[in-house]
Amino acid sequence: MNTLLWFQRDLRLNDNPALSWALQQGKPVIAVYIYSPEEDAIWTEGGASRWWLHQSLKKLSDDLQKINIKLQFFKANSVETISQLATQAQVSAVVWTNRHEPHRNQYENMIESELLKKGIEVERIKDALISRADDFLTVSKNTPYRVFTPFYKKLRSELNLYKFHTNNNKHVKSADAPAVLYKHSQTLDQLSLLDYHPWHEKLHNFWSPGEKKASETLDSFINDSLFNYQSERDFPELDGTSRLSAHLQYGEISVQQIITQLVPLIEMQGGNIAQQAEVFLRQLIWREFARYTLWHFPETSTQPMNPKFTKRFWKTDSVNLEKWQQGKTGIPIIDAGMKQLWESGTMHNRVRMLVASLLTKNMGISWQQGAHWFWDTLVDADLANNTMGWQWVAGCGVDAAPYYRIFNPETQAKKFDKQGYYINRWLDKPSTMKPSQPVVDLATSRVNALDRYNNIIRHNQ
Ligand SMILES: Cc1cc2nc3c(=O)[nH]c(=O)nc-3n(C[C@H](O)[C@H](O)[C@H](O)COP(=O)(O)OP(=O)(O)OC[C@H]3O[C@@H](n4cnc5c(N)ncnc54)[C@H](O)[C@@H]3O)c2cc1C
Repeated sequence: MNTLLWFQRDLRLNDNPALSWALQQGKPVIAVYIYSPEEDAIWTEGGASRWWLHQSLKKLSDDLQKINIKLQFFKANSVETISQLATQAQVSAVVWTNRHEPHRNQYENMIESELLKKGIEVERIKDALISRADDFLTVSKNTPYRVFTPFYKKLRSELNLYKFHTNNNKHVKSADAPAVLYKHSQTLDQLSLLDYHPWHEKLHNFWSPGEKKASETLDSFINDSLFNYQSERDFPELDGTSRLSAHLQYGEISVQQIITQLVPLIEMQGGNIAQQAEVFLRQLIWREFARYTLWHFPETSTQPMNPKFTKRFWKTDSVNLEKWQQGKTGIPIIDAGMKQLWESGTMHNRVRMLVASLLTKNMGISWQQGAHWFWDTLVDADLANNTMGWQWVAGCGVDAAPYYRIFNPETQAKKFDKQGYYINRWLDKPSTMKPSQPVVDLATSRVNALDRYNNIIRHNQ
């Protein structure tokens, strides 16, 4: 008999409880990755994410080979594939780590019930979150939290860092015997994750997906940048943040592994570094809050949390939308951000807020249009974080930024890119270029946006 190990968003060997569990069974391990675009529908990975996923799977496959496990690929329906494999490859147990996303959970439930009907053991591991925060409810109303600060306080107060531990199986043991190769499996290339046109090759200049790089990135962030995290994290030209988001998204590193490294800094060293580690931990709890919100309000990936913001609230303006997408708004920090996104598959958090505010508030275009563009172009595209980020800025989500908070990209650029290094880096010689006419007049569009929001929020109760 064999053990079936299904990789999803846990593409690593170290501190991978599902892998540890599979190896502990002492039977040959059949490891699979199933790419199911038809199941994910509109949330199938976008172009930049597929590039990352391809590289990450390649690294994982090489690493697994070293411990006697062959990663087998399928481009298929996950329910059918696992069910068939379980029967045809003499599987006695199936193990996987939950993805903790509502649209994926329904398939995991179906798979579990199919397997149990066949008398096959199922081990579903909860490892995507820092804590079991899903059960948190407000004391006053006994409903899910919609505001970050009380959620943060509750989670933080219940997080016992001393008890925090990881499997930390640095020396992952080898599988006892090589598993049989399933005859219908495919090669990584047959998943066709990479677009035929090699536009994505430029991403190699910025990123190196995989577990090894994830762990090196964390180490160098802690050694070189953490001590200034609070003061530098808002400056797009500085290496002030961890750049871990895509590694986290694919589970090349777990949030537990990161916190394990923060614990000694928070609990033992005191002083500045402890404070900085707390600020960083708070960002990881924002990530947790995004997951919590999507879990309790799954419809928010496409619908506004505040139902007043129907389709009618937003303008349809494909010409200006395209200018925004292409970094041709005529507003330097916005265009620099959109160019950074296009060239490197990422954008600094401060600039993400600015481009989202311009699109939804000054230009009046729906947050869903912006979220879809990010989905296709970000290497760290993540349903929970992207949904929360866009709804927060647009003022229609949980803990939304007050609607009257409309970022002025010019004053923001003066504050966070004073010398213009970021703008100069991403725009072709902006200082010598004739400035193009901005897509919107910032002052007038601000007044118009305030009118629209006032109208919907105050008068349309
Ligand atoms: C409009 C908009 C869209 C966004 N879309 C995404 C997305 O698709 N994927 C994504 O991972 N993040 C998204 N974010 C959040 C944030 O911009 C990125 O997580 C961050 O820029 C990643 O860089 P970093 O890893 O260096 O962050 P760091 O500052 O080093 O933070 C560490 C980790 O904390 C988490 N984190 C940090 N800030 C946030 C936040 N505001 N919300 C939730 N988690 C956070 C991330 O997992 C991040 O990797 C979005 C933000 C906005 C405003």
